[in-house]
Parts: sequence; structure tokens; C-alpha cells
Amino acid sequence: MIFKIDNIGTFFRQPKISPAYYDLVDQILSLEPKYKSLSDSEIKFSVNKLRKQNSKQGNRTQDIVQSFALTREIASRKLGLKHFETQLLGGLVLNDGKIAEMKTGEGKTLVATLPACYQALKGQGVHIVTVNEYLAKRDKELLQIIYHSLGFTVGLIREGMETLERQYNYACDITYTTNTEVGFDYLRDLMVDSIKTRVLRSFNYCIIDEVDSVLIDEAQTPLILSTPRELTSDKYPKALWVAKQLVPNRHFTAKYRSKQASLTEEGYNFLSEIFQTNDLYDPKNPWLAFVENALRSLLFYQKDQDYIVQNNTIQIIDKFTGRVAKDRKWSDGLHQAIECKENVQITPESQTLNSITYPKFFSLYKKLSGMTGTAKTSEQEFREFYGLEVVVIPTKRPIQRKDLDDFIFETKKAKFRAVIDTIVKAYSTGRPVLVGTTTIEDSEIIAETLKSLGLDDCQLLNAKPENSESEAGIVAQSGAVNSVTIATNMAGRGTDIILGGNLKYIANDLLRQLIYQLINSNPLDIGLSVGLGNFNTILFDLKNLLVQFDTFAIQNYFDEVSDIESYVPQTSLDIRIRNLYIALLNYCNNQWSEGRQMVCDLGGLLIIGTSRHESRRIDNQLRGRSGRQGDPGESRFFISLEDDLVKRYDPNIFLPFMGRENLNSFSGADYIALNKIFNSLQDRVEKFLYENRKSSSAFEEIYEYHQRLYFIFRESILEYHEPLNLLLNLCSFRSMNLPKSSNEIDIYLPASRISFNIDTNKYLYLSALLSASLIISYDQIINKEFLSISKKIILEAMDQKWMEYGERIALSRDTIGLQAYAQRDPLIEYNRFCSQEFSELLIQTQSLIIQSLINFIELNKTYLGV
Ligand code: ADP
Repeated sequence: MIFKIDNIGTFFRQPKISPAYYDLVDQILSLEPKYKSLSDSEIKFSVNKLRKQNSKQGNRTQDIVQSFALTREIASRKLGLKHFETQLLGGLVLNDGKIAEMKTGEGKTLVATLPACYQALKGQGVHIVTVNEYLAKRDKELLQIIYHSLGFTVGLIREGMETLERQYNYACDITYTTNTEVGFDYLRDLMVDSIKTRVLRSFNYCIIDEVDSVLIDEAQTPLILSTPRELTSDKYPKALWVAKQLVPNRHFTAKYRSKQASLTEEGYNFLSEIFQTNDLYDPKNPWLAFVENALRSLLFYQKDQDYIVQNNTIQIIDKFTGRVAKDRKWSDGLHQAIECKENVQITPESQTLNSITYPKFFSLYKKLSGMTGTAKTSEQEFREFYGLEVVVIPTKRPIQRKDLDDFIFETKKAKFRAVIDTIVKAYSTGRPVLVGTTTIEDSEIIAETLKSLGLDDCQLLNAKPENSESEAGIVAQSGAVNSVTIATNMAGRGTDIILGGNLKYIANDLLRQLIYQLINSNPLDIGLSVGLGNFNTILFDLKNLLVQFDTFAIQNYFDEVSDIESYVPQTSLDIRIRNLYIALLNYCNNQWSEGRQMVCDLGGLLIIGTSRHESRRIDNQLRGRSGRQGDPGESRFFISLEDDLVKRYDPNIFLPFMGRENLNSFSGADYIALNKIFNSLQDRVEKFLYENRKSSSAFEEIYEYHQRLYFIFRESILEYHEPLNLLLNLCSFRSMNLPKSSNEIDIYLPASRISFNIDTNKYLYLSALLSASLIISYDQIINKEFLSISKKIILEAMDQKWMEYGERIALSRDTIGLQAYAQRDPLIEYNRFCSQEFSELLIQTQSLIIQSLINFIELNKTYLGV
């Protein structure tokens, strides 16, 4: 038996959690004996019955209880994983549209199946969103057997999928996807020119895994759908040269926290002279924007901290995850300014077609929920921004990890010395260490120093997105004896760190290695002390497998299947490979158990943090990688008065403690004082960033409000089947009222403005349009073919105008920030500006539509028979 079903045991019932939840948990548990006696098909039948009930009337308590109990029974049958009480509780919280805080290792992946199956009963789709494709694929592969056995379809969205595949996968009852994929799909769907090419259906229910990362850390990074624009690279070098001549506090003032550089009057005059212009904002020749970006690139964006230079390109490092943010670029010319600074090839600037922030996007779902190990410290933000309540689910076993007091050093050098000493000491005993850094630079310094000391086998996670899978493999083994792993904050996240190493990964890897070596007739060198007995039988079976099956088919299996244990065998080859895997799993088990015991005796996984993050939540995520499921563990942060957090937010705060050249950690009264200051600094930074997100979201809201109005209208054009309605709709566009909600409509024709009453002058509008063009008859306008062409023309015109609007207001947002409006609230100014621009947009769009239609008719007179 390879799968172990743990006893549920009793867990401490938290008084803070509503007793109603515990009552439901008891009801679910009480159904266990009854459902155990049902056959697989009887279970499927019961689910089907629930489905019929729920399509009419959802959310009946009894249905929830039954659905959860059925899912639990099938999970236990098919995967050997029976939801614990804590997991049932977590599932109920998610089902209520809340955030379940569940610590690492508590089994969030499995929890999601409970609300997913219940919510899928309605037939309107459920999205389970993870932060990368590797996790989405892994979870879907693992859990699909549960969903299928209950009669649900399950889909997976992957990068690069075509429209049809996406439609198919989104049409499933439950769809695994990533935040980026589903967000971009939404933006693309908004801009389709035919409903048929839309991929998403309703936004019904969504579970976001690592919800804090998506809704908080990434809240300010909008998803931007863009196209390349004409290159303006000649301006960047000159702007960079000019920026280098500017003198701080004379020509400009810099705000490091908000990464803003504002020109002083002297600076403005200096630039006007250099560029020989009175108007640095001139949209046709906007020198100010170029110089400002060059300045920002010099002042606030540092190589190996904010970005890396790789293959002659700039790759952004996500400051929360420490990973390279694939395909992400800074917008509005900043990315190009940095490329120029680093002397790499300048890429074309992109032109924004449409954008959305995650908070806005996820608010589209009728019901939203999320899971994470660290939500409590951001409870207020979840409540205020999203109306999401956080419920802390108790752990199944008490947490044993010891979170030790920080060591505080005067200099970074002293700090790193102590970090290295601690790693080496742990290594010499065999104790596994996981070192978390906030920058790639720090992780490299540590790895290189360790290597120079002869500790060659430390693992450095290099934060490349294409390595998600291999990083997961490395992190999975970071609990093994003698393992030293250095990782930027979130590398390999979502991966379970098991003390002694991950047996599943070990057996998986070993099987792959053996097959590879046998196929290539290499002498066996499998890195494990291979005894005789069992192993010889396994080897014998392996050789037989290679004789009986086609090598290509075997290789194909290993290319396709990443997790043998959760892959449901379909062919005789699959079954043979699975049996071999199980044999290896059992074979490795003894050695693994010894390793696990040794690591436990040494105190479990040691986590070392090398600096405090801007957010306590991220520090807690790092700590939480140790001490899973009641394992022993320890965490300690090593910080210094020279850390970036200090430099960036309050560089002088520790001056009284500097200059002592003390290589040891502070102690006594100094330590107490410093610890307090550090805590309050981190607290202030958190509040500052929170306020920043708040104000940024207020700015975003204005754009997103206009976006909603504009695209409701675009939608109505897209959906019209009747030419007459289409054109009537067009005429109501200016006032942004859908037809019938207002009678009086202003029509802006290219040369004139006419008012109409829609009811009485329905046809007058058309004749006005005709008389404007003077070339087309009413019959032709209501011709179906003309309708589809008109639709296309209208949509193109709308998209172009929307894009221009987006650009104008993006530029104004920067300018408003820069101009430091005397005693005026930038938000109000911005709102005023955007509202004016939006009215203008509506007028211009209508004119452009009419003009484009007329041009089209002019050009196609013969074809249209005019
Ligand atoms: P989290 O995402 O909360 O850190 P995971 O979903 O990665 O946790 O699960 C951690 C481990 O616990 C996995 O190995 C998983 O198979 C195991 N696990 C989860 N739920 C159960 C269960 N009910 N019974 C036995 N093992 C479980």
C-alpha cells in the first residue's frame, strides 16, 4: 500500500470560527459510512441528481453537505486522500466566497476540489487559478480522476493555446488556469470582432490559489494587451545623455519611494534650452517623457536588483517573487530607456490596446474565493478592497517550527559572514538549509562564497520562469539530508518540502534515470546506494520492459507524464511503468525514512532569511516553508543596518548605531532598540505601500469605469443582428445610453450636429446618415452583408479611438504626478481630465465611425451597387 490515509483525529475547534461551520463539518463526516457503501456509479448518479437540483436552485445546505461528502469519498477511493476535518472547513470557507488561510502542507490543492465540485453543479463553470502553468497542470493532472469520477469535465489552459482549444477548456465544468492566461483571455475577448471567437463564458465562481500574491502583490501590475509601435529609438540616447547632465536638487528632485523624478523650474528651463522648445510636453515631440524615463532608469532601476541583462535583453525581476517576470515590460518608454542605459538593443515600444488590473478583473466573478498560507496580515486590505473575509483554518497538527529572533548586524558584510557560518555549520551536521534572499545578487554572493569554501552541491534557483518545473523538483528535495538551497523569495513555490526529501520525486527521478541509462546502454550509476535483493528484481523487470515495448513509446510516456503516481494508467505500458514506480517507491522507502528521522533529530529544515521584505507577509511565506504538517523546523532572519529596506525608505534612521565596526550581532539594549525600529520601519513601509495601492487603484478605477461603459457599448454593436438596430444603437452612442433609455439623441456627423427624437424620427437618422454620405440608399443600409462589414468598420474605429484614449490618459497620469499641482488633489485633476477626454472620445468615435462607413461606401461603390 503506497498511499496512506491518515486518521482524521480530532482537532482543536477554534472559538473564532463560526460554530455553523463545525456543524456542517460534522454533517459531512456523518455521511461517510453511507457513501462508503455506494458503488462508483451510484456516486456519479447522486452527483447527477444534485446537479439537476442545483441548476434550478443552488446553495441549499443539504446539497453542500452531500456534494462535499461525495467528493471526499471519491478522493479517498481514487487517490487515497481523504479530506481532513480542517480541509472540509477550508472548503466550506471557500465555498462561501471567503479567503481560507491554510498553512503550507495543509493540502490546499485537495481542499479546492470540495467547493469546485459543489459550485460546478450549477453548470456555469468554475475557475481554479494558480500563479504558474506548472502548478495548474500539476493540480489538474492530479485531481482530474476525482472530477471525472464524479461526472465533471475538467480543462486546463496553457500558454500558446489556440482559440478552439481555449474555448473547449473553458467550456469544461472546472478549468485550471493561471491569472495571466485568464486575464489576457478576458482582454482579448473584449476586443473580438466576432462573438464566435470569444473563449471565456460566464464569470461564475473562482478560487485563486496564493490569493495574496495575485490580489495584493500583483495588484498594481496591470495586464496590458498591446501591439508594437513604430520605433523612436533615436531619442533615447540623447535623452540619456541629457539626463546624465542634470544635477539633483537643482534640476530635479527625486522621490525614491515612489520612483518619481520631478523637474524644477531651473531643470525645465535647462531642457527647453537644450531641445530648443517651449513645450516639452508637445505630444508630437515629447522630450520631457524621454528625459524623465532616462532619469528614472538611472536613479531607481538597478541591474540585478530590478532587472537582469540576459541575451541582449532586459528581463524584469518581480520584486515580490524575486523571479524573472517573463514577457513583462515596463511601459510608456521606461523599458526602452533602461535598454538604452544598458546598451542593449532597443525594442519597439508597445502601444496599449487595452488593460486591466487583477483586482478589477477578479471582481467580475459572481463569487470569488482564495487560499494562501499568509493572508491574516493583509486582512484589512482584503476586506476593504475586495470585501473578502479571511478565515484562519487551524492546522491539523500543532506547528512545531521555532521562529527565532532576528540577528541584527551593522553591515551587510558582517551579516553575510554570519549567514555563511550558519549554513556551513548546519551542513556539517547534515541538516538541510533553505536560504531565502530578496535579490538575485544576494543569492549569487552566497552561492559563490559557499562554493569557494568547497560546498559545491548547493542549489541556486536562478528564478527563470521556464524553470518552474525543475525548480519545483529542487525545492521538493530541499528538505533532504545535507541539502543547501538558495532561492529568491518564491522560487519553487507551491511545492511541498518534505523532511528527508520528497520520496515521490526520488522514485520518479530514479525510474527516469534508470530507463535513460538502460536505453543508452550506460553503466548504471544511479546515485543511491543500491543494494541487492529487491533492486535486482526491479532491474530485471525494467530490462524486460525495454525488450517488450517500443523504446519510442516508453520515451513518449516519460515526455508526457510528469507525475507517474497521479497519472491514471490507460495502456498496458502505463500499468507496467506504474508498477515499476511503486516497486522503486517501496525500495527507496527505508533509506528515505532513515534520512527523514535524521533530519527531524537535527531540528528539521532550517530557514534563513537574508533581509526583511517590504511586506511581513512575504517573510512569513519564507518561514512557512519549514514546519509543514507539524514537522520540526526553525527559521531565523539575518538583517543589517545597510539593508535595501533601510536604504530605500529611511536611510538615516540607524545613523546613531553605525560606525562601530562590530562584526557580531547587536545585543542587549541596542538590540532591543534596533529590533523595535526595524519592526516599526517595516510597519511604516507596509502602510506606505498599502496607501500607494489604494491611491493607484483610485486612478485605475477611473479608467476601468470608462472601460466598462465603452465596452458595454462595443458589446451591443457586436451582438446586433438587425442592421436598423445597429445603426440606431450607433446614434445613441454619444450619450452612452442604450436605445430606448433616452429619446433625445445628439448625432455628430462629420460636418454638423443634429438632434433627433429616436421614436418619432427613427428613419430620419438614417436619412441623415445617407444625406451625409449622399451615396447610399436605405435598402443598402439594411442589407445583411452591409451589416457585417459595417460592424467590422465600427469595431475597428472604436478600438482605435479607445487605444488613443488610453494613451492620452496614461501620459496625463504621469504628468499630473510630475507637475505637483499646487494645493490640488491629483486624483480630482485626473478625474476631471479623464472625464473630458472620455466625452471627447465618444464624440470622436462616432465621427470616426460615420466617416469610416462613408469612406468604405465611397471605395466600394461598384461592389455595393451604388
Ligand atoms: P499546500 O498547498 O497547502 O502547501 P499541498 O496541497 O501541496 O499543500 O499538500 C501537501 C501534501 O499533503 C501533499 O503531499 C498531499 O498529497 C498531502 N495531503 C493533502 N491532503 C491530504 C489528505 N487528506 N490525506 C493525506 N495526505 C494529504
